[in-house]
Amino acid sequence: MDDLGHTWSGPNLHAREPMFDPAGPTKPQRHGAACLVCDKRWPRPQIRVGHFPDGSAAYACEDCAPAVKP
Ligand SMILES: [Zn+2]
Repeated sequence: MDDLGHTWSGPNLHAREPMFDPAGPTKPQRHGAACLVCDKRWPRPQIRVGHFPDGSAAYACEDCAPAVKP
């Protein structure tokens, strides 16, 4: 644990990646089955770009990932 009270391991491993508001994306997007940006479902998006408050990962396709990655 550092001075700010953060623990950089375990469940907080991805604490520094973006967290997305689950109100915007569609259900497939929230489940990682569709690109978060363009909603393309095939090929399945492979690049993890962030997560939602419930801990599920957000994915983007190769075309869109550079636009949303920090
Ligand atoms: Zn895309």
